[in-house]
Order: sequence, then structure tokens, then C-alpha cells
Amino acid sequence: MSNQNSQPRFNAIQTVISRKTKIVEAPKDEKGKTLKISDFYGISTFSLKQMKHKLPNDIYKRLVQTIQSGKKLEIEVANVVAHAVKEWAMENGVTHYTHWFQPQTGTTAEKHDAFLNVDSSGVPMERFSGSQLIQSEPDASSFPSGGMRTTFEARGYAAWDPTSPIFISESGSTRTLCIPSVFISYHGDALDEKTGLLRSNEAITTRAIKLLNLIGDKGVTSIITNMGPEQEYFLIDRAFYALRPDLIMSGRTLLGARPPKGQQLEDHYFGSIPSRVLSYMTECEYEMFKLGVPAKTRHNEVAPMQFELAPIFEESNIAVDHNHVAMEVLRRVAKKHDFEVLLHEKPFAGVNGSGKHNNWSMGIGTGPNELEGINLLDPGKTPHQNMRFLLFLMATLKGLNKHAGLLRASIASSGNDHRLGANEAPPAIISAFLGNMLDNMLNEIEKDTHKNLDYKEVVIKLGVSKLPTVMKDNTDRNRTSPFAFTGNKFEFRAVGSSASCAFPVTIINCAVADAIDEITASLEEKMKTSKSIEEAIFVVVKEAIKETKQVRFEGNGYSGDWVTEAEKRGLPHLKTTPEALHEIISAKSIKLLTGLKVFSEEEVKSRFHVRIEIYNKKVLIEGECMQTMVETQILPAAYQYAGVLAEGVSACKSAGIPAPQTEAFTKLNQVIGLAQAELKKLERILASVFALEDEEARATKIASELKPQMEALRVQCDTLENMVADNFWPLPKYREMLMIS
Ligand code: ADP
Ligand code: MG
Repeated sequence: MSNQNSQPRFNAIQTVISRKTKIVEAPKDEKGKTLKISDFYGISTFSLKQMKHKLPNDIYKRLVQTIQSGKKLEIEVANVVAHAVKEWAMENGVTHYTHWFQPQTGTTAEKHDAFLNVDSSGVPMERFSGSQLIQSEPDASSFPSGGMRTTFEARGYAAWDPTSPIFISESGSTRTLCIPSVFISYHGDALDEKTGLLRSNEAITTRAIKLLNLIGDKGVTSIITNMGPEQEYFLIDRAFYALRPDLIMSGRTLLGARPPKGQQLEDHYFGSIPSRVLSYMTECEYEMFKLGVPAKTRHNEVAPMQFELAPIFEESNIAVDHNHVAMEVLRRVAKKHDFEVLLHEKPFAGVNGSGKHNNWSMGIGTGPNELEGINLLDPGKTPHQNMRFLLFLMATLKGLNKHAGLLRASIASSGNDHRLGANEAPPAIISAFLGNMLDNMLNEIEKDTHKNLDYKEVVIKLGVSKLPTVMKDNTDRNRTSPFAFTGNKFEFRAVGSSASCAFPVTIINCAVADAIDEITASLEEKMKTSKSIEEAIFVVVKEAIKETKQVRFEGNGYSGDWVTEAEKRGLPHLKTTPEALHEIISAKSIKLLTGLKVFSEEEVKSRFHVRIEIYNKKVLIEGECMQTMVETQILPAAYQYAGVLAEGVSACKSAGIPAPQTEAFTKLNQVIGLAQAELKKLERILASVFALEDEEARATKIASELKPQMEALRVQCDTLENMVADNFWPLPKYREMLMIS
């Protein structure tokens, strides 16, 4: 039984239950034979491998040199590359190209231009020059700059980043050539998320090389940081999505009573994947494989209708781009399967939110054969390798300890505020988990018992080289730590699912580069007085262990005790985004970022302003959306049902019999009254926030007043949902969105 209110919702349920799994065909060759993944992997990209085939040898060599040295591409080389790219693109049905870049909105941006040109005599032809490949000028004025440019000089340009492969994006039958780019102002300021990342990679490179030289690992010419982002997401049917203004406007449900069955039964995690979802995942993977995105793992996550995609790790610059591509593919393909993908950190209250675990490590890129490809966070086999590992491990911990606040800021967003510390994600306190064995090892080194021993013997005895096997074999895993060591990498688990990985990785790189500097300086000092390099390393490591002890935590990060303990230790606990964002512009952070030449002071400040503004906009949209939903959907449904109850009560009264509806009627009216009062308060707060001009003042009021008020209003609305007859309720309910697919 439905009435006008619930008709669309009941129709949606009908639609969803009659959906069929969409059959996804694997890519085939001309003869119709199914291709292996490796046959079509990367076919939509123009990577170095393809370039090698298509470019004259000397041009190819010069391009590779340019990429490796990070220098500017010569126009002569660019012209030849552009021609080859255009030919390849046109063979693949491409008509337009775009510089694909990452403004500070957290997403990607593109503006398409056709290859088509018409010459002076009116003859049409396809053209693509080297200079068009190298850069373009999208109007920068519509992208957030955090006040870095005044409007009259609102010009910026997108410049090709040749380290990331060019690719063809497909949407329907349209194919567009995407040229991964950085986005900078005419004064050279970074207007995007990528420029800082590239600069931070450089910062870590020079410093790590210096440290390596000092300990005898000479001849290294580049250091790379690696990243593998595990992406969590929710899927819900589009028929439900279309009926939820909150999901459409803000990506999360602003209202909704929790169903009696959520994730308590823990029957979803790693369970068998529903066939409609599996078919969706398969099509996503085909798309990603064509784009050279190494999607490796897929599985159910903890909450109902929550899933995860994990790629094979890549150089962080490329991994960041690929994560954007992956998110875009997830969104685009979802529609084909009548799903909507929710990348928000907390689409549903009361069930787990979504994160994006950034697995991070640093390694040797180019150098002598025996050093190339070495992961500096790999404990290694020989005493020398073990000691090198200990140095880079301690550099990471030092960076984390010194810049914990900034790292917290790097993952701050309105969405992530709902997730951090909500008993499903690490708290908003940055700490590191090392695992029992490594933790004990550091405690052992910290004791002063090794004086005058043969330090090579000591590291062998400590068993550093056994770490990776031990860590792989046992379940010594801590899912509650924001920054966990997992054998040869750290897993930064606090990153939000919708976030770009660029900024968090930039900040990790900077914090660690800074600490490598300190370690190097300290080691240089100690070497003057030590009997051996090993002794000097040992002393430096020991000092770093003492210094960073407070940031190490092996216990349960979700527990309330940890919050108390961490605050006692003096670790920053920045609960809200506005609080956290101020860390970006602290004197310490500015010194770090400008000192490493990753950002100018103006660029640092702009990052702060952009993020504050985005926070404000997002929460204000939520506030206004909630207001409208309560006024136009929730209260009207409650009034109508109250009307029905009233009729019943009065009918009974006229018949002279007791009215069984009386209690429900009275209670409903009470809750309606409470909801109305909370709505009024919300409206007042919204108006007072809008009346403020200063964005920082707005942010503070939003965090301290608006968000709590939205929660208060929600409580009353969710109570109404559980009181109003089901067939009067217009919004798809949690149980429907999460349980029916
Ligand atoms: P887990 O045990 O955490 O599930 P996995 O081996 O599945 O570990 O890896 C999780 C993610 O970490 C994957 O994206 C993987 O590619 C990435 N990863 C593995 N090794 C490294 C590394 N050395 N540096 C960066 N990321 C890595
Ligand atoms: Mg993991």
C-alpha cells in the first residue's frame, strides 16, 4: 500500500528488484577471441613503451632524458612527439585533446580542443603542434587559488607532465586525448595539487641521495616515492539515489534512521560479491586495464554495499593520477549498471565510512645496478642494509613526529571529520604503529647496552632482516593506527576516500625529507667522533628513537584511553577540519614547506584558504539541503500522517469510544514540535554564518554551531521516520538503499 508520498519510493524498490545483471563482454581480438588482460593492458595510453615504437630513436632518447632530468622539453622534440601522439590518437577515433590537470578542488579538470584547424583558404585539416602539446591556457579564474591571484591577472596555464602517460578517455562514443598536466600561474605559482607533489619528490631525492652518499651508497641519481591507494566506496541503486536530494547534493545522507541490521553480523566483509556488483567491478577493471591502471584486488568491505579496489603500487606521481582515473571510471561505469558510486567518507551514519589507505614507501630510482630499485623501507639482508633501513625508518618517524599536525591537516575535509575517531577509522591523532617485533627492536636499541660492541653483530642479533617475513606471516596488524608499518611500507590509513592523494603524499614527502636532512647533519657530526660509521649510525638511530617515542603507539587507536593518553603525551588532537587546517599555516609548517622549496609562503597560505573555503561551501550546501528536505519532505509527511491520526481520533470520539491512536498522535505532535524548533535554530545559524564575510570566522561557526545543530535536527527527523507510517515516507530508507540491490 502506498500513497502519493511513498509512491516514487515504492516504484524505486520495484525497479531495483527487477534489475538484471548487465553482462560484460571481455575485450576481443579481430577474430573474436577473448584477449588476455596483458594483451590489452594500457592500449588506451601513449606511454614510453608506445613512444619507443612510434618515435625516431634520437627523439625518444631525448624525451626520456627530459623525463628523467625533469627539465623542460625542447620544442623540436615536442613537435615530433606531438605528431606521433596525434596520429596515434586519430587512429583510435579521437577528435579532441585536453590538458588534464588537478586544480585544488580535489578533482580533475579538462577543457577540450579539437585537432581541427581551418587554414586561410578554408581547407580543414587536423593539427597538433609541439607547443600545443606542451601547454595550454585554460581560464584560471574559475578555479580556487586561495587569493593568490587578483582577478585581473587570473591567467594560468597547464603544462604537460611527461612523467605521467597520456591517455584516451572514453565517454559514450566520445574519445578524448588527455594530457596529464600541472597547472601554474604566470608567476609560476602552483595552482594545482600536482606541482607540489613533483617538487616534494625532488626535495626527498636530493636529501636521500646525500644521506646515501654519506653511508657509502654512492652514485644514486634519483629517489622515487611509491604509493598504492586502497580505495573504498559504496554503491547504491540509481533509482534510490534519484530520490535522495542529500546524496545528490552532498554525497552523503543527511537524514535517515538506522536499520536494526547494519553491519553487526559482520557478514559482508570479504563475503561473496553480489553478481550485479561483480559485473560492475569487471567492467571497471576492463576500463582501468585499458588505461594502464593496475587494478589488482577487489572485495567487499565491512559495511553493506561497501567495497574496495586496490591497485598495484606505482610511483606516487603516477599513482595519484591513476587514482583519479580510477575514481572517474568507478563513477562513469556505475551509471551503466544503474548504480551510483558514493566516494564520500561517510555516506551513511551508523555504518563504517570509507577511507583511502595510502601505502607509501621510498626507494632508489636510478643509480648503480646493485642499488637500483631498492626500497629504502625494506629491512634488507646484510648489516649495512639493515642500518640503512633503520636510518630511513627513523627519518620517517621523525618527520611524522615533528609534523604530526600538518599531516593531520593534509587529510582534513568535512567528509573525513565524520569518519576519523568514529570507531571505524583512526582518531584525528597522528601516531605510528610498528608491530611487536620492530617495536621491541627499537626499545632494545634505545637501551644503552650496545656500547663498544661490534655494531654489525648487533644488527644481526636484533634480527632486522627477519622483519619482513615475520610481519608477513603473523597477523600482527593494527587496523586502528593512522600510520602503520607493514613490513616494507607505511600505510597512511587516515586519508579520506574522496580525497586526492596528492596533498597527503606531498606532506609525507616533505616531513620525511626534512627529517632526512636532520639525520644527515647529525650523522655527519657523530662520524667525527665515532670509531666506525656503524657506531655513528647507531648513535643517531638511538637518539631518533628517544625523540620519536611519543608518536609510537601499538595499542587500540579506536579506544577512548588512547585519546587521553595521546593528549597526555602532547600529541596534537585536532578534531575538526578548521582546527586542523590552521596547522598548514603554522610557523613550523611554513618553514618546512618553504625551506624545502616545495611551496612559497603565498602558495602555502593559498592551500589553507582554498581548503577552508571548500569546507565552508560543502557544509553550507549540506545545511541548506537539509533545511529544504525537512521543510518540503520530512515535515509534510509527518503532518499528513498526523492528519490521518487526527481523523481517527476524532472519528472515535464522535462514536464515543476510546481512540487507540491517541498516544501515537500525541507523541507524533511532540516530535514534530521538536523538529520544528530545531529547524528554526538551524535556519538562524545558517543565516548567521552567511552574514559573516570572513571565511575563517565562517568555518569556526560552522564547526562549532552549524554541524552540531544539523545533528540535533537529524535526531528529531530520524525519530519521525520511525513514527510515521511507512507508506507516508518519501525518502528511500537505509534498509532499502543498503540491503536491496
Ligand atoms: P595489505 O596487506 O595491506 O592488504 P597489500 O600487499 O595488499 O597489503 O598492499 C596494499 C597496497 O599497498 C597495494 O596497493 C600494494 O600495491 C601497496 N604496496 C605494496 N608494497 C608497497 C610499497 N613498497 N610501497 C608502496 N605501496 C606498496
Ligand atoms: Mg592494506
